[in-house]
Amino acid sequence: MRPALMAVQTPSQAPARDIAIEARRVGKTFGAGMLALDHVDFTIERGEFVSILGPSGCGKSTLLRVIAGLYEPDAGGDLQILGKRSNGVSEDVGVVFQTHNMLPWATVEANMRLAAEVRRIPKREIDERIEQLLPILKLEKFRHSHPHQLSGGMRQRAALGQILITRPKVLLLDEPFGALDALTRDQLNVELLRIWQEMRQTVALITHSIAEAVLLSDRVLVMSERPGKIVKEIHIDLPRPRDPRLTKEQVRFGQYVVQLGQLMGVE
Ligand code: ADP
Ligand code: MG
Repeated sequence: MRPALMAVQTPSQAPARDIAIEARRVGKTFGAGMLALDHVDFTIERGEFVSILGPSGCGKSTLLRVIAGLYEPDAGGDLQILGKRSNGVSEDVGVVFQTHNMLPWATVEANMRLAAEVRRIPKREIDERIEQLLPILKLEKFRHSHPHQLSGGMRQRAALGQILITRPKVLLLDEPFGALDALTRDQLNVELLRIWQEMRQTVALITHSIAEAVLLSDRVLVMSERPGKIVKEIHIDLPRPRDPRLTKEQVRFGQYVVQLGQLMGVE
């Protein structure tokens, strides 16, 4: 026996990977046998920005809700969030949906405060986070506005603020800008890129925009038709920080867009 070789094989000496989300054979069946997700396998590392692309109805939102602990996955799989087996909704995980959850009678600032108060964050801490976040979200001038007084883009930025104020370690975004026009979407993607470059949470973003996925992500996961599973992953090897205009001018950017378009069947 050669002790040195034995030591290499000891599991405790394997290099520790810093994994934020690990899904193994995660499935989800609705009602009487409606299989939405089938053996979904992937990992997302801490601090990584990953986008999930897939055809409409393939189970993207279902997957995000399972990761968020809002839907219980089928038995037999394993879902680990920050090294612990997922067990329902966690304070470490924040979710932003396509339509905001703001209270119509409360201002932008009050909506953000309420989201933090629900998490029992001390008032002084909330005050600090509000002052930090409003400029990042470019909402300083609108802190006293009510949701109906804001544009769609501002409302989604405020909705992002309601989640960011709780400082989730993992941020799940389900087509957060999907209901907005193309120009506003592009602007918000630029904002999201900037915010992430400052805060560096782990992000899983669901989108149906290939260009958006390439611009923002470290890695893009592609899902199959329902029952959804991950069928392909593409590492986006473009330098950071990414300036949106300069990034889109790069030859590599165009190649990734074409490659993903072919995978998605939208050439
Ligand atoms: P995507 O977000 O990719 O468009 P969804 O995850 O919303 O897809 O839906 C995947 C499939 O699961 C669809 O066929 C949808 O009708 C079905 N589904 C989603 N949520 C439910 C639910 N709560 N009950 C029953 N079926 C559902
Ligand atoms: Mg969806």
